Amino acid sequence: MIAEIISVGTELLLGNIVNSNAQYLAGRLAELGFDLYYQTVVGDNTERLKAALDVAYNRAELVVLTGGLGPTKDDLTKEMLAAYFGKTLGFDEAVFENVVKQVHAFGATEITENHRKQAMVPSDSLILTNEYGTAPGCVMQHEGKTAVLLPGPPREMKPMFEQCVERFLFKLVSKAIASVCIRLKTREEAPPDRVGEAPVARRLDDLLDSENPTVATYAQPEGVLIRVTASGPMREDALAIARMMAAECRRRVGEDVIREITEQ
Ligand code: ATP
Ligand code: MG
Repeated sequence: MIAEIISVGTELLLGNIVNSNAQYLAGRLAELGFDLYYQTVVGDNTERLKAALDVAYNRAELVVLTGGLGPTKDDLTKEMLAAYFGKTLGFDEAVFENVVKQVHAFGATEITENHRKQAMVPSDSLILTNEYGTAPGCVMQHEGKTAVLLPGPPREMKPMFEQCVERFLFKLVSKAIASVCIRLKTREEAPPDRVGEAPVARRLDDLLDSENPTVATYAQPEGVLIRVTASGPMREDALAIARMMAAECRRRVGEDVIREITEQ
């Protein structure tokens, strides 16, 4: 699965701070098995953030954003993403309780309107508790696109990623696998120049280089075995991909030399 990172913050653009969040996230996402081809840095600006999202979702299914989740006016990531995904923001009592707890932990007592803004969370989203600050993170999904929003401060962002996001992403990348096997007739049952492993491999040719599904041949006493293996989000998806390729394999070797087909 392809992922991108968008780092939001005018401070980053001006060179006031080093983009250590992108470095950290790139490493973690690569470890989790995501393919990363681009990263973007964008200022705290609604139009430019929207443009960056449009570009990113043209290339990737997952976008991880950091920054701009705070309570001040320039923090617009949450509002922008909620609008982008057609979600509404609603006050969440449990999130507010955590905001109050964090404010008290900082040694402050006054709860302001800005703190209430922190407890506004997007509908139908996974809300990520911030154990080290007031801004909650969240995961939003819409039409196959996923956005993970994380706070800018690394000491808040990293624990949130490790404690909540990793588990979610692990499920997102986990795939089902299905195989379809084709058994060919033996050399006694059919002409050897059609059912031997070498002629079969020659006919399958470019299919043997395919990555998903993979196609492999095995020379066995009961006849050559062609195994087509596919991966997909669900078993049915994987099976559908494998079946399509198996049909092409059957066509190439010739249906008349096939003894049986087994799906696993
Ligand atoms: P806050 O609630 O603190 O405002 P926020 O989610 O709104 O958090 P920003 O306002 O964008 O985040 O940034 C707050 C601080 O977090 C920055 O001043 C900087 O110290 C740190 N920070 C933000 N983005 C990054 C980044 N990409 N890499 C490293 N540090 C960052
Ligand atoms: Mg901020």
